[in-house]
Amino acid sequence: MGIKKDKKGSNRLLERTMERLAKRRQAPVYVFVLLLLLYFAASIIVSFTAGSQEVVMFGGNPLYIYTFAGVFSSVANLCVVLMVIFCGKMGFIVSVTVMLVQMPMMLMGIIKGNLSSIPGLFGNTLTIIVVFVIYIDKKKVEEYQHRIREQATTDLLTGLPNGFAGTELINELIRRNKPFTNVTIDINNFKLINDTMGFDIGNKVLLEIASRWKKIANEGLSGTLDFISRINGDEYSLVIRNYDSTDDVEKTVKTYESALEEKMVIDGYEVFVNASFGYANFPSDAAELDTLVNYSVAAMREIKRINSSEHILHFTPELLKEQSTLMIDNKVRFALENDMVGFNLQPQYDMSHRLRGFEALARMKDSDGNSVSPIEFIPAAERLGMIDSLDLMVYRKSAVFIGDIIKKTGLDIVLSINASVKHLMKNGFAEEIRSLLKDSGIPAGQLEVEITESILIESAEKAAECLNELKDMGIRIAIDDFGTGYSSLSYLNSFPSDILKIDKSFIDKMNDSDSSQKYVEAIISLAHVLDLEVIAEGVEEDEQLETLGGIHCDYIQGFIWGKPLTQDEAEELLMKLAALK
Ligand code: C2E
Ligand code: CA
Ligand code: CA
Repeated sequence: MGIKKDKKGSNRLLERTMERLAKRRQAPVYVFVLLLLLYFAASIIVSFTAGSQEVVMFGGNPLYIYTFAGVFSSVANLCVVLMVIFCGKMGFIVSVTVMLVQMPMMLMGIIKGNLSSIPGLFGNTLTIIVVFVIYIDKKKVEEYQHRIREQATTDLLTGLPNGFAGTELINELIRRNKPFTNVTIDINNFKLINDTMGFDIGNKVLLEIASRWKKIANEGLSGTLDFISRINGDEYSLVIRNYDSTDDVEKTVKTYESALEEKMVIDGYEVFVNASFGYANFPSDAAELDTLVNYSVAAMREIKRINSSEHILHFTPELLKEQSTLMIDNKVRFALENDMVGFNLQPQYDMSHRLRGFEALARMKDSDGNSVSPIEFIPAAERLGMIDSLDLMVYRKSAVFIGDIIKKTGLDIVLSINASVKHLMKNGFAEEIRSLLKDSGIPAGQLEVEITESILIESAEKAAECLNELKDMGIRIAIDDFGTGYSSLSYLNSFPSDILKIDKSFIDKMNDSDSSQKYVEAIISLAHVLDLEVIAEGVEEDEQLETLGGIHCDYIQGFIWGKPLTQDEAEELLMKLAALK
């Protein structure tokens, strides 16, 4: 395998990157050349003018040429000082050399009796002292900067480069568009070591791990060019370069994995550790820093979650789906355990804008307080077998609220609640509704259960049984999302339903063509024939409202007249209505 070995390459690249970030840039070479030329020019003028006794007239006054020597000598010295300040080591060496070369010439002049060289010699000596002072001071500042840089990029506990250093290296590699692999490593069950053996031993374990890995990286034992850094706690990052194939990458990661196999003896304790390794490649898996790191973290989490004897996983896009499923599942569990499921109430109106009632819509927040959409959490709760608990939370909270309002105001409003297929099919649904009526005080005729059309068709018999039981209690039944399933009106005849909710997708299309409108019109007339009322869902535009009025729709529910309201907003609306009564 043609792997190029350069064990210090990563450190050197990082060092250069940090230099680039921290250091004041040196002046370009042409500045150095200009200063040097100016210096020589000034020095030549000095040597010609210093001994001259000639006089020139300046503004009508006589002026000795040798007075110019002082001016040009200062210019030459200034050039030397500027070279030391702006042109680094090269500037320093050249300055000192040219100054020292001049010294014997001046001395010779003085010995030969040319006393005009004395001020020049004096000036030169002073300038050399200044040049040395500036250079030594600059060196000290640079050393100090170097120490600070090192501290900023080193992890104090393990002496490995830290997360900042790792990120800088990755950024640099991305900037140079060089292929590499980012591996995220997390020690398995490290918390257990800390909890049972104490932080001190925990720290020594981390040190031992770091020293094993440092050896591999520094001595090039894996065959690739590696850079290992500690991100935080028990999390490390490994950047792998100079490989020919994905097999090389696997082999390198295995080298780091195997390094942990040998037991550690720490303060007389035998400690066994292993770690989870997730990796993603630049640029084939991801071309940006954040994405690349997220992907390797996702792979690491997945292999940790699977908890198998394999500890290494390459990122694949499927992992993202699994991760988001996992995340939403955890959110649902958390929300149910911590009473973070609430409800909104979306008003329903008749065609003359009189309030009919509300549909209770589930609302959920995650542990950070961010809202999660029902489109995400309802299917998750169904998958987890938790939909009945979730539904019940929404039913209880919304029914108690509406029950109290009805008791207080006597308003004739309906509360609609959504029943999921999985929930409805569970034995005991009707019993739950019975106690809901009792506990909330809502009259049975003012509670409506919404069931989607597809439930009725897929599980007709059981559904009919349950719905009949509800009907016997006096509960109203709504067929939700009508039109998205089989849209079979004749089917509906066999269910004891009261109201049909035409799905938003039909309302959206309704004004696009004559035939769409005719279709909605036909649904409404047939529903009326079957003695069902009709609600149009998702009405957003005046035009839709107008059309629905013309084709004898009974009710509408949509953003045009009411978005889902919080409990407080709904209470305000209801109190206003009660006051008008
Ligand atoms: P759904 O039963 O069809 O509820 C109506 C959805 O349409 C609601 O979305 C509502 O906010 C939205 N909507 C109403 N009017 C408009 C409009 O004019 N324009 C637009 N763009 N949208 C409108 P939401 O709250 O996101 O609920 C989504 C679905 O989640 C519901 O659809 C229902 O199937 C389910 N769901 C909500 N709450 C519960 C619950 O407590 N239990 C169960 N099992 N399912 C629920
Ligand atoms: Ca609904
Ligand atoms: Ca609906």
